Amino acid sequence: MDDPTGVDRHRTRMRRKKEVVDAKIAAAQADRGVLLVLTGNGKGKSSSAFGMVARALGHGMKVGVAQFIKGRSDTGEEGFFRRHPGVHWHVLGEGFTWETQNLARDTETAQRGWAVARELLRDPGLGLVVLDELTYPLKYGWLDIETALADLAARPRMQHVVITGRAAPAALIAAADTVTELRDVKHAFRAGVRAQQGVDL
Ligand code: ATP
Ligand code: MG
Repeated sequence: MDDPTGVDRHRTRMRRKKEVVDAKIAAAQADRGVLLVLTGNGKGKSSSAFGMVARALGHGMKVGVAQFIKGRSDTGEEGFFRRHPGVHWHVLGEGFTWETQNLARDTETAQRGWAVARELLRDPGLGLVVLDELTYPLKYGWLDIETALADLAARPRMQHVVITGRAAPAALIAAADTVTELRDVKHAFRAGVRAQQGVDL
């Protein structure tokens, strides 16, 4: 055997792999706004979206954020990004919670919220728009999915949109360019650890 340590074989394999990857990179040359959906039961949907907010701001882009379910008012990302002059931050979910049991009011709140989101989706100055927890009003029928998809499709060509929330409807997944389902393998909460600053809020 001429290659007892396998070095040559490894080099050949890596070169082939690089050729395949290079060809894929060469084939992906389009620039356009992408629609991302971060869904699933695992932790990391909203925090991933806010990571992209930091990336966009780092490139000097302007960002719109709309929060559809207002779980808490003391999150670190809100405290940090609200102060940033490049961020337009809107809390649209005040008033509806799991407990309201008031469909008419929840629907009205969601509609009003969508009117604000639509403004963000019509603003060509915004390079990134985050619609945090949008899947819930869609799932519960407070917001019409066809209306939402039409407004998303009509957004500026270069605008990126990130939608987060569990149980993303199939029509939203079909319309998206990039979809990640975060899987819940373990969560400290189930071992009795309450929400920790810097991790969960
Ligand atoms: P994060 O904001 O931390 O990225 P998320 O957006 O994926 O979380 P949400 O469903 O919006 O998840 O819930 C937000 C809060 O619930 C966070 O405090 C998060 O740590 C917690 N959480 C998320 N997933 C789980 C889970 N599987 N079990 C328990 N708590 C969770
Ligand atoms: Mg979230």
